Amino acid sequence: MDLGLTGRAILVTGGAKGIGAAIVRALAAEGARPIVLDRDAIALRVMCESIPDVIAIECDLRDPTACRDAVADAVSRAGGLDAVVNNAGVNDSVGLEQGSPDRFRESLRANLFHCYDIVHAALPSLKASGADGSEGDAWKAAIVNIASKTAVTGQGNTSGYSAAKGAILALTREWAVELLPYAIRVNAIVPAEVMTPLYRAWLDASADPEARLAQILERIPLGRRMTQPEEIASMACFLLSPRAGHVTGQHLFVDGGYVHLDRALR
Ligand code: NAP
Repeated sequence: MDLGLTGRAILVTGGAKGIGAAIVRALAAEGARPIVLDRDAIALRVMCESIPDVIAIECDLRDPTACRDAVADAVSRAGGLDAVVNNAGVNDSVGLEQGSPDRFRESLRANLFHCYDIVHAALPSLKASGADGSEGDAWKAAIVNIASKTAVTGQGNTSGYSAAKGAILALTREWAVELLPYAIRVNAIVPAEVMTPLYRAWLDASADPEARLAQILERIPLGRRMTQPEEIASMACFLLSPRAGHVTGQHLFVDGGYVHLDRALR
């Protein structure tokens, strides 16, 4: 199936590793032109070596000025911007007992504020996307936000991350409404357990990582396995594409049934 993403300039935050990198690879395979914003210079370099024509911009998204400058750089280098994937985030274990008001605010800066900063800066370009009709009238800009199961289930000891991801789900609906006049669609993907560098680091911080992993796998209904980053990427590509032309304001759970299926299954 042709997703109709050919030539589209699509910005992916945190796209140098993990889920973001899988999205970037999938977009490149669809003929899109991914633009990666990430703070990991080495991972960005590796990505540029493996994907020709990817635009890599090193920046720390916690800095609002860096977000604005990165979007301007992206627009100038790609000649416009057709879509945004807000993917960057870190489950940083800022809880109530093991946290502080300052660290809570810092967690929101790491996980939430840059989503607004990026979309705010990108909006004029997103509104202009497709307006020339050069590839027909089918293309409209889109935004995909990567949330987390913690937004709806909680996790314990991660107030900042959960609050940020809950806000991202709310912003998905809010932006879907605000951007209706421009036919810019806004959707969220909600992953649960995906093996990435971030997840591995979290697992390795536990007393017995392999026992913990076995315990987690046992609770994933479909196949008793982790979700692959590529499975999140497939959903992202679909949601970004004109094939999802009547899908907006949705929260798509790509989690093997982790959040919604009957606990008695386990
Ligand atoms: P990952 O393996 O850490 O990859 C994320 C990339 O984003 C890393 O290169 C990271 O750099 C970068 N990044 C993070 N914060 C940044 C910032 N402020 N500025 C610039 N770059 C930044 O993470 P992942 O597991 O793929 O997670 C991607 C998204 O999915 C996150 O929003 C996460 O919350 C969400 N998610 C993941 C899972 C899961 O099971 N993995 C489950 C639910 C939701 P550093 O390495 O320097 O941090």
